[in-house]
Amino acid sequence: MTASLTDILAQSATHHRHICPRQVLGARTGLLAGRLFNLPLPQPEKRLIAIAETDGCFVDGLSAATGCYVGRRTLRIEDYGKIAATFIDSHTGQAVRIAPLTNIRELARQYAPSARNKWEVQLVGYQHIPDELLLCWQDVELTVPIKQIIGRPGKRAVCEICGEEIINQREVIREGTVLCKSCAGESYFHYVELTAFHPLLAPPAAMTPEVGRGGRVGATLDEVLR
Ligand SMILES: [Zn+2]
Ligand SMILES: [Zn+2]
Repeated sequence: MTASLTDILAQSATHHRHICPRQVLGARTGLLAGRLFNLPLPQPEKRLIAIAETDGCFVDGLSAATGCYVGRRTLRIEDYGKIAATFIDSHTGQAVRIAPLTNIRELARQYAPSARNKWEVQLVGYQHIPDELLLCWQDVELTVPIKQIIGRPGKRAVCEICGEEIINQREVIREGTVLCKSCAGESYFHYVELTAFHPLLAPPAAMTPEVGRGGRVGATLDEVLR
């Protein structure tokens, strides 16, 4: 039996230290996904996968409603800065994207007649607007298959440049060479100059370019692929 919205919001608020309108939208979105797929929530297994298009409060409500968490590998963030999420039934492959309708801020007033301010209007209104007037949903097809998005949990590889272990099938194969995404040039960071370290503290060995960490000392991507 799916938990009530009130119970879900109480649980979401404990993670979050407060309750807010976006948590309500996350919870409502998650509950609708359960209804559309006819799955009991919060899910006891890992059948339902969520891809949220933002982080923050919305996701806390979504997680509390569905049991989809980053730690369970049932929640991913594709940060488009949008209050929206796609849910995938990993058994059937069916995928549905759910987003709030664009007029709900104004509509909320009708569902929260005694609210004292805009924030309360949204907090209360979003709990009472019917699904059909709060959210829109549409079947979608993922551009990357769900199996590939999840990867193979038991799989391990070692990057041939940095020597670090890669789990969940996230390695990149370039001309037969196994690379992590960082070394393949898809990195979100680059190492700073060694002078950035405190002079009294030696930098970790892995960060010293001449030493390197992997089997190919100080090798660049070009050198490895040559
Ligand atoms: Zn919040
Ligand atoms: Zn690497």
